[in-house]
Amino acid sequence: MEKLLPEKLLGLTPYDPVEQRFRIHLDANESFVPLPEEILHEICNSIKKFEFNRYPDPMAKGACGAFAELFGINSDYITAGNGSDELISMLLGAFLQKGDKIMTFSPDFTMYSFYSGLFELENSVYIKDEDFNVDINEVIKRLNTENIKLVIFSNPCNPTAVGIERNDIIKLLDNTQVITVIDEAYMDFWNQSVLDLIEEYENLIILKTCSKAFGLASLRCGFAISGKKMTDHIRNAKSPYNVNGLTQIIVKAILSKKEFIANAVNEVKESANMLYSGLKEIENDYNDKVIIYPSKTNFVTLKTDYAEDIFKYLLSKSICIRKLNDKILRITAGRKQENIELLKNIRGYFGKII
Ligand SMILES: *Cc1c(COP(=O)(O)O)cnc(C)c1O
Repeated sequence: MEKLLPEKLLGLTPYDPVEQRFRIHLDANESFVPLPEEILHEICNSIKKFEFNRYPDPMAKGACGAFAELFGINSDYITAGNGSDELISMLLGAFLQKGDKIMTFSPDFTMYSFYSGLFELENSVYIKDEDFNVDINEVIKRLNTENIKLVIFSNPCNPTAVGIERNDIIKLLDNTQVITVIDEAYMDFWNQSVLDLIEEYENLIILKTCSKAFGLASLRCGFAISGKKMTDHIRNAKSPYNVNGLTQIIVKAILSKKEFIANAVNEVKESANMLYSGLKEIENDYNDKVIIYPSKTNFVTLKTDYAEDIFKYLLSKSICIRKLNDKILRITAGRKQENIELLKNIRGYFGKII
């Protein structure tokens, strides 16, 4: 059978998240905030009335409407997806043709280059500097000279936790014409969103997800927000029933609880601050061994020559974090007690090796 299949498929390996369960999970940038009893109760009641036999609303109007309301935008500019991951795949697959050139940044969310390969696009990679910063002028220059059709990046960035300021994004939009997809999966933890600019720039698409700040990773729901014309194209290209009916009602129920969302985001921000300051203290005490990057997200990224070793040491204590390569670790902000345990063990590790 293999000779019937294209090489791009044969080269793939499955996405490999941590499936084993550990005592403490700080590896996937999920929220640790539980849903309040009364919201759970409301969801249970709507499930009792739910029509499992009927196809869901293809436009997920309830979920999109709640999102629109939460962010103060027009719901005509919103398309829901089966996770923003589906929207990334759809945008790269439907808006480009084999051989078209896109730009991604490195390091950045790996799915952009994954789908770029799957759709046989040419990927011009912009390498960030040592501190994970982006020289926006350099990016603009390359976008204007390399025949690039689309640029996609996360802001703030997963996995670096570093962000590009709104002024720089506006400079990019003012000086280029390519389709610009900005993945604001973590922008709820920072204040440099450009969501308000979608009417101004018709080549701008913003992605948001319910998986991080809203704590709904399991439901699989994300949104693409763009001007009217772009939104029409996105809606034309999507598969009809891409967001399942249960997800639609639960997302609607949760996103319409503005106070719960605001509190949950604050709680996660406080945890991220705690994690960051705890790690900074460790950096201070062992400053030739680890570098902590400032975080605009719900996780903290660190560079260390001991990445592999720290990762394994923590696993031996049943604490799971994310190892991105042999120098970079990413740690999601968790419950207070989880952060305390994590910090104690990283400190313990450095205490042992010197
Ligand atoms: C987690 C993450 C996503 C994935 O979102 P889903 O809606 O769960 O598919 C998208 N982009 C970035 C940058 C992420 O970190």
